[in-house]
Amino acid sequence: MQLSFLYQNRIIAFEVIYRPRKTMSIRVEPPDRVTVIVPLGTKKALILEKVKEKGHWIAEKLDACKSAGSAGPEQLKNGARIVYRGEKYLLCIEVDYSRKNSKVKILDRSIHIKTPDPAPEAIKGTLEACFRQQAREAIEERIRFYQPVIPKKPNRVFIKAQRSRWGSCSSLGNLNFNWKIILLPPAVFDYIIVHEMCHLVYLNHSREFWDLVASILPNYKESYQWLREHSQAQLW
Ligand SMILES: [Zn+2]
Repeated sequence: MQLSFLYQNRIIAFEVIYRPRKTMSIRVEPPDRVTVIVPLGTKKALILEKVKEKGHWIAEKLDACKSAGSAGPEQLKNGARIVYRGEKYLLCIEVDYSRKNSKVKILDRSIHIKTPDPAPEAIKGTLEACFRQQAREAIEERIRFYQPVIPKKPNRVFIKAQRSRWGSCSSLGNLNFNWKIILLPPAVFDYIIVHEMCHLVYLNHSREFWDLVASILPNYKESYQWLREHSQAQLW
């Protein structure tokens, strides 16, 4: 069900999802999606009332999604700062019309691109292809690193571009990771890898599951908290 309300001068539309649960929760995701999850049977008037009370918070989140449109390719020009592995890197673009393809080099605190096409969309595509490759290598390396302490091996590992998930584990034992995790701080990156690998053993979030995560990463709660506070929109 789609509902909307007026907050100051703007109309904020949101999607209502009914779930068997006790409390209501609101999610704001880029570019401008608002989802409200409510207990089964909640009356429309009550939903509107509760969501309106949060109008200020929702509007702020929506604005943050927009300005975090640093994700927008128009920002990807020479001298821009982009986040990679949790650090800011200086983007250096060198245009060379004689080239056939673009080339990316990641240095200590800068990312250099040699390209025949400096259009922001092209730069974004080039960077994404590079980050995806970096993500695949780093993910496979970390899986090998943690494998000795996890009694099950993944069947296959897929790198995806999910909208709202960092990773997942299927009942077939396949692990899926969002390539954007390469933009996160390495500790958070490792937590996502370990979290999904532990799902190979426990396909739930039971006590045993969290005990296994904690036995491998005793400080995992810091990464868990970090993920709750940062949306991927701020990164890409
Ligand atoms: Zn999980």
